[in-house]
Amino acid sequence: MPVLCSSCSEKRAVLKRPKTGHSLCKACFFWAFEEEVHQTIVAAKLFRSGETVGIAASGGKDSTVLAHVMKLLNERHGYGLELMLISVDEGITGYRDDSLETVKRNQQQYELPLKIVSYEELYGWTMDAIVKQVGLKNNCTFCGVFRRQALDRGAIMLKVDKICTGHNADDVAETVLMNILRGDIARLRRCTAISTASEGDGVVPRCKPLKYAYEKEIVLYAYFKKLDYFSTECIYSPNAYRGYARTFLKDLESIRPSSIMDIIHSGENLSVREGVKMPVQGTCSRCGYISSQALCKSCVLLEGLNRGLPKLGIGKHHRLHGKILSQQPLTEHEQRKLKSVDF
Ligand code: SF4
Ligand code: ZN
Repeated sequence: MPVLCSSCSEKRAVLKRPKTGHSLCKACFFWAFEEEVHQTIVAAKLFRSGETVGIAASGGKDSTVLAHVMKLLNERHGYGLELMLISVDEGITGYRDDSLETVKRNQQQYELPLKIVSYEELYGWTMDAIVKQVGLKNNCTFCGVFRRQALDRGAIMLKVDKICTGHNADDVAETVLMNILRGDIARLRRCTAISTASEGDGVVPRCKPLKYAYEKEIVLYAYFKKLDYFSTECIYSPNAYRGYARTFLKDLESIRPSSIMDIIHSGENLSVREGVKMPVQGTCSRCGYISSQALCKSCVLLEGLNRGLPKLGIGKHHRLHGKILSQQPLTEHEQRKLKSVDF
């Protein structure tokens, strides 16, 4: 006997919602998924009418679904937003060049303006060149730090008021777990926030409209809507630590699907005891970007690359910032320590 959709009771159910276990037809699933994102946007007051919003687009499933749903909800509910796509080209041959082709097709399909900012143009280094120098161990640290700043730079060039990213519920839960495992209280407190206010000049406020959307549902949505997305993994993705957190989360989800939401709620309700020392945000004295040290992470990583000392930005070498800023030479011992790529 075919199962009927538990929402409309008319059409045949084609899927079981991973988030709720309900059997739904295609149309009812689309509606439920889209309206939940709408509820998230409304409840957290993510946007104001008249704003220009940049959608961080990588060509992957999350950002493709985000672009599709943002365009649809903007029209359906009259948000009054001007939407644009911003992409970062990390310079990864065989991966990003192909996924950017997907973004370019999305731009045509959704009729949205697109801005691509590249690491090469911003930093003088592609990820291909960085991996050649640092190997495959800490490459994602460079990539993550550079991407954050690159998106801000792209957003400023496009004069957008806000950036929205495709982070989904699984990503947020995974980050909560990782920050707990690392004891990173400052990040733990920030990572569940659905939006961040501008933390200073050059930092554009960000938000995550898909924060409560399960990855499995995003995949189903993209599949049933036949969205055009790129599903290959980055060729430099050894980020083992996140991988373990992800596997752990998926195991938990298979036993109890609500685990994802429960971890997010736990993260949201944690409070930091008074008196715990938190980093104080200032600005980088070289590029002006936010930083809790004399130099921002991006400038230190870049300095390390340019000096052939890749370890400079990995780990805690804050005491060297003054020397870098005043262009003082490092001692032989310091150089030796920073030269090894065996992080
Ligand atoms: Fe960059 Fe690492 Fe992601 Fe690849 S896996 S795009 S190197 S952060
Ligand atoms: Zn800087």
